[in-house]
Amino acid sequence: MKPLTEFLAQQHTLSLYRERGIVDGPQGVEITLNGRPVVAFCSNDYLGLANHPEVVAALQEGARLYGAGSGAAHLISGHSEAHHLLEQELAAFTGRPRALLFSTGYMANLGVLSALMGRGDTVFEDRLNHASLVDGARLSQARLRRYPHRDMETLEAWLSRPRDGDALIASDGVFSMDGDLAPVDTLRDLARRHSAWLLIDDAHGLGVVGAGGRGSLEQWVGADDDGIILMGTLGKAFGTFGAFVAGGEDLIEYLIQRARTYIYTTALPPAVAHATRTSLRVLREDDWRRTHLQQLITRLRNGLSRFGVKLPAAHTPIQPVVVGDPDTALVLSRALLRRGLLIPAIRPPTVPQGGARLRITLSAAHQTSHVDRLIEELARLL
Ligand SMILES: *Cc1c(COP(=O)(O)O)cnc(C)c1O
Repeated sequence: MKPLTEFLAQQHTLSLYRERGIVDGPQGVEITLNGRPVVAFCSNDYLGLANHPEVVAALQEGARLYGAGSGAAHLISGHSEAHHLLEQELAAFTGRPRALLFSTGYMANLGVLSALMGRGDTVFEDRLNHASLVDGARLSQARLRRYPHRDMETLEAWLSRPRDGDALIASDGVFSMDGDLAPVDTLRDLARRHSAWLLIDDAHGLGVVGAGGRGSLEQWVGADDDGIILMGTLGKAFGTFGAFVAGGEDLIEYLIQRARTYIYTTALPPAVAHATRTSLRVLREDDWRRTHLQQLITRLRNGLSRFGVKLPAAHTPIQPVVVGDPDTALVLSRALLRRGLLIPAIRPPTVPQGGARLRITLSAAHQTSHVDRLIEELARLL
């Protein structure tokens, strides 16, 4: 048996112990953590929709119309009108023939990878991909090859080798801990040239990247390039919960037959799908949220670069300050918290060894004064 007590003590010694703070009240940028008011720079609620009055009202209306739970999996009796309408609206938004709801993004990635790939096939993944893409490849039992971050030459060399079986390339669209973008146009060309599937996980791109918020694909290849399997999550910029896969008719029907994380799990509550229809509408209509967010990102980057802080190249809401060792990250995070700013230390194995960081995220719900306060406090500490 594993000595759990020893393991836990060691995690403390290594500054790798993970703890949860308790938030009361709604999600937002000014929240109450462990009973104290703080300004949060760490959620994925990039557009400030998690507590948007119309989205909250739609959730209440959804509960009135559909009750609290879905009662069953989609293929039994859990697939409600609210799910179905949301799927149609997500398909239209992403410019695809079809979309399929999953209960979480983690399950969507596991479902797609394990349904499409199997023993004898090969999955190629960026080394910094989200854990769910890695776990999906493992579950599929395909060979997993992880190429250096954004290294298209290595990927091309690997794809050019003779292989048996199918190939699939999977990449985050916006890398979740680094905030930079995958070169989706090159990935698309490589996938075409080497007859590989391409799966883009746009958990952090949808709603935020691209002029219309249609995500990384809009930015790189046009949103409706349907050679690409698109996975999107609803718990981030959409502010609610759940995930979807968008693609062609056959792909979606195939997933309904074969994706085990779709088939063998309870459908998400229809009221949540109902609320997400409203958040999709707000996300499409409120261009000012994306504009304001971009202004905040520029302000933060300019502010921090004056103090010599190195930030990623991309103007996404994820702007990590990489400090290296877990202890430094923890000390900084605690010092910020004492000053009323919440930015948890992100440590291995969430990021590679030596890559501990403060993962700053911005939201359209932040005000300029919040960002100025963050710049000031970081300048004092760094
Ligand atoms: C958050 C995230 C997921 C998982 O989505 P959930 O709906 O939270 O399970 C998958 N991929 C990436 C890149 C993510 O950031």
